[in-house]
Amino acid sequence: MQLDGFDVVVVGAGFFGATIAERVANELGRKVCVVDRRAHIGGNAYSEIDPDSGIEVHRYGTHIFHTNSDTVWRYLQRFTEFTSYRHRVFTVARGRLYSMPINLATISAAFGRAMTPQEAKLVIAAEADDHVHAHVHVHGASVAQNLEDKAIASVGRTLYDLLIRGYTQKQWQTEPSELSADIIGRLPVRLNFDDRYFADRYEGMPVDGYTAIFQRMLKSPNIELRLGVDYFDIADQIRPDQLVIYTGPIDRFFRYRCGELGWRTVDFAREVHDVDDFQGTSVINYADADVPFTRIHEFRHLHPERDYREPKTTIYREYSRFAGRDDEPYYPINTTADRAILSGYRMMMEKRPNVIFGGRLGSYKYLDMHQAIGAALKTFENEVTTFLAGREL
Ligand code: FAD
Repeated sequence: MQLDGFDVVVVGAGFFGATIAERVANELGRKVCVVDRRAHIGGNAYSEIDPDSGIEVHRYGTHIFHTNSDTVWRYLQRFTEFTSYRHRVFTVARGRLYSMPINLATISAAFGRAMTPQEAKLVIAAEADDHVHAHVHVHGASVAQNLEDKAIASVGRTLYDLLIRGYTQKQWQTEPSELSADIIGRLPVRLNFDDRYFADRYEGMPVDGYTAIFQRMLKSPNIELRLGVDYFDIADQIRPDQLVIYTGPIDRFFRYRCGELGWRTVDFAREVHDVDDFQGTSVINYADADVPFTRIHEFRHLHPERDYREPKTTIYREYSRFAGRDDEPYYPINTTADRAILSGYRMMMEKRPNVIFGGRLGSYKYLDMHQAIGAALKTFENEVTTFLAGREL
């Protein structure tokens, strides 16, 4: 494969790579080659029409766009309009349905009676206090050591047992009492009936789907796209005066010399049903430990404005597990051992001046789409323009 005429080689056609490629091509007018080892653009945000139902599905799980950043929102408007979709999530637990994140409707349903904000606050605080006192009594310390303690301190025992425990256990294949408290932030409890999943200023679904965004971003005479190409098969043809934007897994780049970083992956089991509605909403979580899947996605609900006429619907059941080397890495586990490995790779990165590592795989960080785009815009402004300034091929 000839790479001679390119100023920049972008590895990965997800949001991080596509944003940099678009900026380099359209803002600087420089030549970019984008490679991805997959057969499609879009990275994990890729969407496609399921031929068996005619419904647009997200191959790597439901993606909802949301952000508080004016810069990112304005940037994306160049490539798409957004619908007014607002994401809402429900959880099934012990045969009943609850609204998530935890809000006053969830609390009232869990305790079987209507509660005012003040009542709900007191009930949760009393349960959390009981737990802390019992903890001090047994362990002689009040600091939340593990995920279970931290979760109960946020939401109390009743809501934890009902909605959090089984779900977390399935997600991590580990008892929450054996997981580090660092894995979660403080669990949100809303003492009102606000049931929107995201609280950001901007939210919506791209009118023509995610893949159309990437087609528009990468449509430039200065961009050449090569799909089904692994970076490691072309790496030896890249010269030091060419810039590489690498958005693949950082440990693989360095041939795992400092060790393998831990990731969780998910498997999706696809089903097409001959009904026009399977579950009435786009995502339902399943909290009980004895239900093997964590969520069911039903994609037709992401676009209620569309005229999906066929009485067919596609659902994905989602199963969570630890990733092996050949699995798709989804969520960084980020144990103390992982962080030590990562700092080893960070030192190795400094010795590669013509490579910029970015995106969720290249930085070993869970990034939402708006964060990947925001980080790419900053990387472009700072590092990419600096590298290319004064370098003419
Ligand atoms: P990616 O999209 O992963 O792109 C990286 C690309 O690099 C991939 O296409 C890969 O094939 C390619 N690549 C890797 N190695 C090589 C190699 N050696 N050679 C060539 N190509 C290579 N974000 C939201 O904002 N809202 C959501 O609702 C949301 N839901 C999510 C649900 C799930 C289940 C997951 C896992 C993530 C979700 N995200 C969501 C996050 C979103 O997927 C990421 O923000 C986005 O994918 C980040 O883009 P990226 O370019 O960093 O990485």
